[in-house]
Amino acid sequence: MHRYGVCNLLTTLSYPPWTKGLDRVVYMTQHGEERFPFYAYVQPNDVCTVNSHHNASFWSFSRLPAEIQVHVLAMCPASTLFRLMHTSLKLRTEALKLFWAKADTYFLVDAHWLINKAYPGDSMWDMAFLVQVQNVEIDYSSVLNNRICMRQEDERVEIQSNLVDIFWASLRDRVLNVKRVILNYNEGSTGREYGLDRIPLALRLLVEASPHGIETCVLFLERKQTSRPTTWRTATWRRCLLRRTEQGVWEEGNLEKFRKTILMPPKIFRGPVGSFGELLYQCYTKIPLQRYGLWPLMVEALDRHHFDVGRNEPFPCPVASCTAYFSKGGEWTIYAAEEHY
Ligand SMILES: [Zn+2]
Repeated sequence: MHRYGVCNLLTTLSYPPWTKGLDRVVYMTQHGEERFPFYAYVQPNDVCTVNSHHNASFWSFSRLPAEIQVHVLAMCPASTLFRLMHTSLKLRTEALKLFWAKADTYFLVDAHWLINKAYPGDSMWDMAFLVQVQNVEIDYSSVLNNRICMRQEDERVEIQSNLVDIFWASLRDRVLNVKRVILNYNEGSTGREYGLDRIPLALRLLVEASPHGIETCVLFLERKQTSRPTTWRTATWRRCLLRRTEQGVWEEGNLEKFRKTILMPPKIFRGPVGSFGELLYQCYTKIPLQRYGLWPLMVEALDRHHFDVGRNEPFPCPVASCTAYFSKGGEWTIYAAEEHY
């Protein structure tokens, strides 16, 4: 992993006290960001055995005043709301509204797909599902900087404003209920100066063109400012969230209580072309995310082997020629990310 992904990786890793089993599947991008497949997002966290006591309390729930029922539903996690969407008509209506409006949940869409007019055949995801989505995270890459701001031979920059229009038209066309958009540009600065702007011009143009009624912000990586000179070996990056207010002022958002990025359910792959499409989905989307996800699990496994469930067994760093030594749970996990990324 490149060094700029360390700030993402530190968020993805697990620290003591560990609460989840190691036999889980973690999806991670090559830049250290965690992704949650839809089936895992709606899976209940704890196993609850239904007995007569639970049945009795459920029936009392349906006799509560409607306002209290709605208040209780508003506190339910997505997994519970998803189950309630499969019960009575009344509960389904309320649960549906709350499920799609969850403020900390974003569904992933590819920026290239939007700029290429968002044809369903070019996408792996279920289009009927996408229509319901309100919060969209858009995977943006530096390739699009060059497509929107084309650099000519004489170094002039020619802006392709038609691509910006296509981008938003495609989004509104496919995601009819869209309300919030995060443009996620997860690549470290290449060293090229963007003038006074902290983000590339193409991204700025996209945000400025965002239609009325859609709250748009940019998530990007920025080199941390330090008093001492840094090289690629010592520089550290941080994640920033910039939002443009209606008055046109850019303000930095809070990353403390942030979001979960969900992979939508894939479409149903039918026929010979569908079989080929499914292979592409496995090869280029699912398997790479699972493979990168093995890294945080391996780091966690080593830490837990020495310090979980009451064990206290200090150990040296397993990386050859490294002299670090870890005497507390969690030390190795942070060190593995920051020093050995
Ligand atoms: Zn080491």
